[in-house]
Amino acid sequence: AAAAPAAAMVSAEAGIDRVLWTEAEVAARVGEVAAALAADLRALPPGPPAVVVGVATGALLFLADLVRRVDVPLAVDFVRVESYGGGTESSGKPRITADLKVDVAGKHVVVVEDIVDTGNTLSFLIAHLEKKGASSISVCTFLDKPARRKFNIQLVGDGKFYSGFECPDYFVVGYGLDYAELYRNLPFIGVLKPEMYKKDSSN
Ligand code: 5GP
Ligand code: MG
Ligand code: MG
Repeated sequence: AAAAPAAAMVSAEAGIDRVLWTEAEVAARVGEVAAALAADLRALPPGPPAVVVGVATGALLFLADLVRRVDVPLAVDFVRVESYGGGTESSGKPRITADLKVDVAGKHVVVVEDIVDTGNTLSFLIAHLEKKGASSISVCTFLDKPARRKFNIQLVGDGKFYSGFECPDYFVVGYGLDYAELYRNLPFIGVLKPEMYKKDSSN
């Protein structure tokens, strides 16, 4: 066995108060969402392959686990939309800080998100993709906090809404979701210990 390091090893898990969904629960639910999405994509009339648009960076883990379980021809691209500062609350008007490479005109688009909270980011992104001429826009979000919705999510065409779990009104991290760019690598969803962010004066 390797020698123990001199200083105590700090794990990412050390900042977590409690786990809301374990790694096994996440995997099981992602499998169900993927099956529903795959069935819908397979049922589409013949046309160009759908485009899965991940919202960086939070959708990274969910998208990776999802698309490998959706066995239909599809393109994958990322967009970066920023509306949050480093804190835990939305801060004003979203903006696209890295746009798509793939042309979505005339194609079915599936937006993959980590979490829909107020809906500010997603409603802005949907309008952006609609302007690019997507023929339908679906949303596939790992977590949904409907209690906090302020912006209506208007799907386009025959677009559908898929959601992994309904999330209680806590600030959660893990499985792609960050606090100040940390905790994304946790394989489960957890609630951060309050002392991990209350010292941040921007909240
Ligand atoms: P909205 O624009 O819907 O208010 O917020 C969407 C974005 O805010 C999400 O994509 C995510 O990046 C961030 N967000 C909202 N709620 C949470 C949360 O509980 N935890 C984390 N880590 N990010 C959140
Ligand atoms: Mg996000
Ligand atoms: Mg974030």
